[in-house]
Amino acid sequence: NGSTDYLVAIAERMATVKHKILVLSGKGGVGKSTFSAQLSFALAAKDFQVGLLDIDICGPSIPKMLGLEGQDIHQSNLGWSPVYVESNLGVMSIGFMLPNPDEAVIWRGPRKNGIIKQFLKDVYWGELDFLVVDAPPGTSDEHISIVQFLQATGIDGAIIVTTPQQVSLIDVRKEVNFCKKVGVPILGVVENMSGLCQPLTDFRFLKLTETGEHTDVTEKVIQYLREKAPEMVDLIAASEVFDSSGGGAAKMCAEMGVPFLGKVPLDPQLCKAAEEGKSCFTDQKCSVSAPALKNIIEKL
Ligand code: ADP
Repeated sequence: NGSTDYLVAIAERMATVKHKILVLSGKGGVGKSTFSAQLSFALAAKDFQVGLLDIDICGPSIPKMLGLEGQDIHQSNLGWSPVYVESNLGVMSIGFMLPNPDEAVIWRGPRKNGIIKQFLKDVYWGELDFLVVDAPPGTSDEHISIVQFLQATGIDGAIIVTTPQQVSLIDVRKEVNFCKKVGVPILGVVENMSGLCQPLTDFRFLKLTETGEHTDVTEKVIQYLREKAPEMVDLIAASEVFDSSGGGAAKMCAEMGVPFLGKVPLDPQLCKAAEEGKSCFTDQKCSVSAPALKNIIEKL
């Protein structure tokens, strides 16, 4: 049957992939791509063979987050070759195919589905322990496509990334219901940007003046602490940024009967690692977010 030949081709490609993990979010900007990128770095650091497939066609941020901006995909007789960060971490994204990264991708559903089909059918990943799929936010054509295209070979599960506030959690419920409806197991929910958390010494301390301006007194404060209370200098300062009075993701997970994987704080160092396309575990000193992420990844 010609119309389903591609499903056979996809199944053949996926035969060399042990585990497939979808990373989802209800809304954009909650840290889904950051999580996908750091999850891939973490798995690769454990010596697994890892592929990261970015199907967020309208906002492909994966090339930048892996430090691969401006790279091209090559074609061989085996298929499209992913772009490699390291020999065991390959990346595929529509971002590599766009002539100008500033150009908006305005594609209708069928064209998006077409490229996802091609990614699954034509990319030569070789033997993979994990294929991490970074999906667009919400539940749209791309989600239905990826689930349908991978139906024959199965998806191990989905990780849903959210922020703690209600507006984000409402959309997570939709995501959970989508997974239940299409039969994708939910590995769990990650609460990202769960409070701001950083070493005291990374803060700027400002003193408001009478005219409403402020002066930076950071050096003075740190100097004072070093002299008067040196044990305080190592403190981590934490502050709630978003309203989590509704109980956050943990409560929602309990209500919906899905696993809660843990919280990752807002960490300026993690943002920096993502901007620079680096691993928060090895390259960038992410003293508060890296242990939190590690703990979550251990649970998978
Ligand atoms: P999404 O994929 O959900 O649209 P991104 O992963 O692109 O979201 O994240 C949005 C922005 O927030 C990025 O600049 C990213 O580096 C930053 N970010 C994500 N999570 C954190 C965090 N825990 N701490 C600091 N910055 C973060």
